[in-house]
Amino acid sequence: MELKALYREILNEHNINPVHKEEISDANITLQGINPSCGDNITLKLKVENGKVEGGAFTGSGCAISQASCDMMLDLIIGKEESEALRLCEIFMGMIQGTVSEEQIEELDEASALREIQHMPARVKCAELGW
Ligand code: ZN
Repeated sequence: MELKALYREILNEHNINPVHKEEISDANITLQGINPSCGDNITLKLKVENGKVEGGAFTGSGCAISQASCDMMLDLIIGKEESEALRLCEIFMGMIQGTVSEEQIEELDEASALREIQHMPARVKCAELGW
């Protein structure tokens, strides 16, 4: 499949059926992010225990990219060590800025589809918000 088509398909899937868009009651970290230029608003809740991301979810509203990107981020980091989750977030930011290698981008799994965003400067903040 062509990369752009893949990008659209993955984005659609996470936007229509977000896996992690829900309320969780046992979170111990709550973060809110707002991207005024687009109107994206995300509340991210994480349960981090003993240095491990045990769970996470988000609520909020905004464009397809912001919501799908946050859903992909949670897919990637839930179940991982906190340090590993932070490392993956750094790779994501590096991918958007075009500063990481192909091998690093592959570690992002589905979120690597968002690499297209680096060619859409107006949408960069949407993609980065959740991360
Ligand atoms: Zn947006």
